[in-house]
Amino acid sequence: EIEIPEDHPRYQSLLTRHRIEEGVNRGITSKQGLIAEGRGEAFDYLLGERTIESADAAERAAAAQLLLADHPVLSVNGNVAALVAPEIVDLAEAVDADIEINLFNRTAERMEAIAAHLRDHGAENVKGLTADGRIPNLSHERAKVDADGIGAADVVLVPLEDGDRAEALGEMGKTEIVIDLNPLSRSAQVAAIPIVDNIIRAIPNITDHARELRTADHDQLAEIVAAFDPEAALAAAEAAIREGELA
Ligand code: ATP
Ligand code: MG
Repeated sequence: EIEIPEDHPRYQSLLTRHRIEEGVNRGITSKQGLIAEGRGEAFDYLLGERTIESADAAERAAAAQLLLADHPVLSVNGNVAALVAPEIVDLAEAVDADIEINLFNRTAERMEAIAAHLRDHGAENVKGLTADGRIPNLSHERAKVDADGIGAADVVLVPLEDGDRAEALGEMGKTEIVIDLNPLSRSAQVAAIPIVDNIIRAIPNITDHARELRTADHDQLAEIVAAFDPEAALAAAEAAIREGELA
């Protein structure tokens, strides 16, 4: 166990990096995941390692969209499991969503390690292991989903998703909520609700919004979703990165 001094100015970033490293050591996160983490850190640094206003609005819209859904699913990969397993379980409870493991580099060992990790953090029903459904127009391994999970979902939260798969899910008619620190990423570009924020800040904030919106009626939730403009959110994030604007 590495000790990270809490008074270090970049404590959160060091903690995040350490969690990913631990994830790799425990067979939860792939080595590719280390590279993805590095890309994310660079964008987060440029954003000032904070939740910009447009991201908070996106997180509120995401909460409303998840509450409106008939069958919402939260997709979990190796980075997500290493960084925010308890927070994902909490969000699933707040919006009554399924949790499904969905790996770009799928191996039986990693699927099992992630499922065990999620169960350790209180997940009761972890999907993704059956893999009896397919996303059309993707090669075999990358296409696997559970027929009664992502296969049957109307709204899917896909954090740190590969652009190709995000696009294919959109073509299936799923409403996609993407969390990705890179506003230029294809995944963010194809999302109905792109959230340009670090997943460690985004997930708990979506949960807070969902708890606050629990008493809102259908029309109020629909209004929040309709008022959200994905292009404007991406533009605001890009401006914040390029110009340091307080978007
Ligand atoms: P492209 O979308 O440009 O084709 P890619 O999706 O193939 O690239 P990856 O490295 O696989 O590239 O994607 C990882 C994405 O996840 C990056 O855009 C990175 O910014 C983002 N990311 C990494 N860590 C986090 C995090 N903690 N929170 C939010 N986003 C993150
Ligand atoms: Mg991407």
